Amino acid sequence: MPTEPAGATRGRLTVITGPMFAGKSARLIAEARKAGHEGMAIAVLKPAFDDRGARGLVSSRDGSSIGCESVGAWPDLAWPTRLVFIDEAQFLTGANYRGDLIADIERALDAGLDVMVSGLDTDYHRTPFAVMAELAARADAHLHLAARCHRCGQPARWTAKRAETGRLLEVGDDELYEARCDMHWTEPSAACHGQ
Ligand SMILES: [Zn+2]
Repeated sequence: MPTEPAGATRGRLTVITGPMFAGKSARLIAEARKAGHEGMAIAVLKPAFDDRGARGLVSSRDGSSIGCESVGAWPDLAWPTRLVFIDEAQFLTGANYRGDLIADIERALDAGLDVMVSGLDTDYHRTPFAVMAELAARADAHLHLAARCHRCGQPARWTAKRAETGRLLEVGDDELYEARCDMHWTEPSAACHGQ
């Protein structure tokens, strides 16, 4: 996370994208902890929609975690907050978010806060999440992480759903999703239809 002297300058937007299992949350947590250790006042947010793991905690598959606020709207970020970290931002849209995340982040940047956002760039049909594409386009720094293909171990940029459940936004882990390379990505099987 870039650290610049506090002042009237616009904050920096850093965006982390990639498929599931790429270490996005681990990276976000590491950056948040580093900023915290440096004595900066931080806020860590995740969608209330994401009910995996403990409430009030962003956690990664490598075992790291950090306290957070579960949100469905932009929270009041009181001074002296300097940095905002947002995990799983692809979920902060539509019925899961009151307001416009892009506009809220722009306002925070204008107020001089640095913002780091992580999220999926595409869904399991390989369709971009519009909110993440917009954020990546506006980012001062964009870090795209790859996972390892669950089939062959090569770098993977896609998320595949193991079976169709009929829900596009569905929270799950490796019981439901896998990272796949270009060669091994497939649409989900229809095995779960009607269940
Ligand atoms: Zn593969």
